[in-house]
Amino acid sequence: MIRRSFFGYLAAKLPYETVKGGLPDPVDTALPGEVTLQIQVGTDQKSLVDKKKTALKKGVEVQRGALYGLFDEETKNVSAPVSGTITSVETRTGNYGRHFALINIATSEEGETSPAFSDALEADTKGTESLAFLSQLPGRPPFTRLANDGIHTVILSALEQDLLTNVNQYALLARKTDFKRGADYIKELAPKARVVLALPKYLEAEAQDTGCETVGIKNLYPNGNPILLAGRLAGKPIEAGKTLEESGFLLFSAEAVAATGKALRTRSLPQEKLVTLTLKNKETRLVNARIGTPITQIFEAAGETLVKRDHLIVGGPLTGVSVYTPNFPVDPDTDAILCHGPENMPRLTDTYCINCGKCVRVCPANIPVNLLIRMLENGLYEEAVEKYDLDACVECGLCSFICVAKMPLFQQIMLARHTLAESKKSAEMGGSND
Ligand code: SF4
Ligand code: SF4
Repeated sequence: MIRRSFFGYLAAKLPYETVKGGLPDPVDTALPGEVTLQIQVGTDQKSLVDKKKTALKKGVEVQRGALYGLFDEETKNVSAPVSGTITSVETRTGNYGRHFALINIATSEEGETSPAFSDALEADTKGTESLAFLSQLPGRPPFTRLANDGIHTVILSALEQDLLTNVNQYALLARKTDFKRGADYIKELAPKARVVLALPKYLEAEAQDTGCETVGIKNLYPNGNPILLAGRLAGKPIEAGKTLEESGFLLFSAEAVAATGKALRTRSLPQEKLVTLTLKNKETRLVNARIGTPITQIFEAAGETLVKRDHLIVGGPLTGVSVYTPNFPVDPDTDAILCHGPENMPRLTDTYCINCGKCVRVCPANIPVNLLIRMLENGLYEEAVEKYDLDACVECGLCSFICVAKMPLFQQIMLARHTLAESKKSAEMGGSND
């Protein structure tokens, strides 16, 4: 039974970064000597990688801008951000038990970019092949799902997904001509859908010449959350347990839209990702880094040297994940990286809930988090869905942020959701859930 309030989502609380008054151009990082591409894989695929049964393997040469299939030539799901030679393909198991294939590429001199994307555009600008290339752009735009007939609204979002980042606001402001070209292309691809630009209110005047319908939103966290944005546009909360796409929405980040415009203009795929770094002294810097660049090199470009016991978080302070190595790479959707010195480590504990109720009051989805967490701590995930609306969580991380006992509430929620999704997948494939 869903007990969530019918009165919609609660008001947002925390201010995002802004680009008011303009920002200096991002710091460019040098071309790295080696890049690492992380591709999420299922358990079966992990086993294939471990047994070295992949099409991409040590010794294979790749060309910048070409698309490759990790397991076979047909299913192309890897875009090479550099030209070079693969030095190894290995696996890593990350947070919540998710598996990744890591493809390490030793970079050669910047030579010719692959003509494959340009050829695909030449053959059919809106064809399947062109869209497969564009799906690999920074921000991971969901081009291959635009053809889904159920999509009624496409959100172009210049809001941020977490605090301490301003990449989408910057992309809209500083790359407006490319943004407009990208937005026009998306409108042509989805002629029946409503295409709307969601942006912080203070940028509304700046967006007038983009030709987009705009919705100005207070620049407060978690207003940029995709599920909350969709709920706002639909005029009612998204049904608990449904994905954005199942509810008829797709979201393109402003950075991805601008990258699309640039790709169409230059007929080559942009491979640089905008990332906001938070340095140990809490200052922020915007950097432009080749996808796959190790974090340590990006901080060096911003004048920060990482040392042992620094704590690195990829993805923002509320929803990001801690990473264990400074060689962790920048992914196409890495918007923020934070570094805390050992003296400023965020604290999490394994103490008990004191029932203060703060997490319940802050939760935008009105979930009784204090009760939910008791189920999750005992591994009662099905009950957590049935009785305490685990499915309604929009994954904002505010409950963990506010918890006076510093309990890892968000991490428990993410673990439960991942475990349930894996069980469902296993059941669909005829496996056992035990
Ligand atoms: S992460 Fe926490 S605060 Fe955010 S929606 Fe989920 S339960 Fe609520
Ligand atoms: S904020 Fe933390 S301590 Fe307070 S009720 Fe929620 S889980 Fe319990």
